[in-house]
Amino acid sequence: MRLFVAINFNDETRSELVKIQRRVKSSAARGRFPDPVNFHLTLAFLGECDTKQLHAAESVLSSMIFAPFELTFERVGRFRRRGGDLWWAGIRLTPELEKIHAELSKGLTSVGFSLDLRPFRPHVTLARQVVDSIVLPNPPIFNETIRSIELMESIRVNGRLKYKPLFSVASH
Ligand code: ATP
Ligand code: MG
Repeated sequence: MRLFVAINFNDETRSELVKIQRRVKSSAARGRFPDPVNFHLTLAFLGECDTKQLHAAESVLSSMIFAPFELTFERVGRFRRRGGDLWWAGIRLTPELEKIHAELSKGLTSVGFSLDLRPFRPHVTLARQVVDSIVLPNPPIFNETIRSIELMESIRVNGRLKYKPLFSVASH
């Protein structure tokens, strides 16, 4: 099974993100636009895992202690890719978010996962393989208070990508 750890959003946040996704869409000649139910913030990508690794990841998650924290969606941007750009909504890297990411990474590494070592750039993917888009102005800032973190499985249902929450840890 293909696993990752993520923060999922409420409907209000999703609809704000849809507005930005629409603007990317209308500025682009073409691209792939993920289903808004799939919007998420990836904290750690675990890749293909067996049952033992699933349990190890669950135990790391259940040992996480955090208070509710604010996510601030503050900009729109892109990663340049050869096959077309990836457009995202950028989240402010606050000390709280940085701490959660660092603790999670440390825990997962200590049980044997090899994680992406690039600097954490918190973002929500809104579009992929985007060609001929224009630079977009930043959207109005919005926030959501986060109270849980989920272990997610990436699956295909009738050829469509779906993310299934397997395990959730709540804030204190
Ligand atoms: P698809 O691969 O079908 O285009 P996806 O990338 O959203 O869709 P997954 O590849 O299962 O689906 O990835 C799940 C999450 O993990 C996504 O947020 C993705 O950006 C992230 N991710 C995937 N591969 C890596 C990787 N090698 N390093 C870091 N993050 C990754
Ligand atoms: Mg992928």
